[in-house]
Amino acid sequence: MKNKDILTYTFEEYITMIEHFHGSVAPGILIGGFMVDLACRNIPKNTMYNVICETTKCLPDAVQLLTQCTIGNQRLKIINVGRYALTFYEKDTGWGIRIYLDYKKTEPWSEIKNWYLKVKPKHMQNKQLLLSQIKEAGTNLLGIKKVDVNIKLLGQKHNGRIVICPFCDEAYRVTNGTAVCPACREEILPYVLKTIKTAKTVL
Ligand SMILES: [Zn+2]
Repeated sequence: MKNKDILTYTFEEYITMIEHFHGSVAPGILIGGFMVDLACRNIPKNTMYNVICETTKCLPDAVQLLTQCTIGNQRLKIINVGRYALTFYEKDTGWGIRIYLDYKKTEPWSEIKNWYLKVKPKHMQNKQLLLSQIKEAGTNLLGIKKVDVNIKLLGQKHNGRIVICPFCDEAYRVTNGTAVCPACREEILPYVLKTIKTAKTVL
């Protein structure tokens, strides 16, 4: 059925894309596909848009699979407030729309509700039923609102100077004017470095 398709893909084609990209068919990315599809049908053609995603979990991958907005090109920004929502906005004016997964609309689909609100633990959920309900529900699970994005708050891309950190002796991008890289200054990286004898050494 045409209205169940995700952009130019069938539901089944999209499942294959998810398997290759994400490693497993996560329900959230499937629903995310319908969210992207609904967004793209509600923004004017040829609009240069960026995306804000309100969760780190699964949903960013739907955006990266289906649009040219990625974390790497900074057109996808994740502001993690834990809500299942995407905002597509015109990058120069801030005009946009926000699409969200509306828990009230999951009522007719028991397994989607179980999954979304974690009514049942994961091992008790029926994945096949969940996927078939997601296909059946399509965009009917979603809410949509117009938004005005304050693009000044989002800031511009910062292409700061590159300097060498005196502690780690690696090049890094200066963002706040200090002379030591953030990794050395704050010890935020969760690993301990160990020396490998040659570049060809296999661990
Ligand atoms: Zn350093």
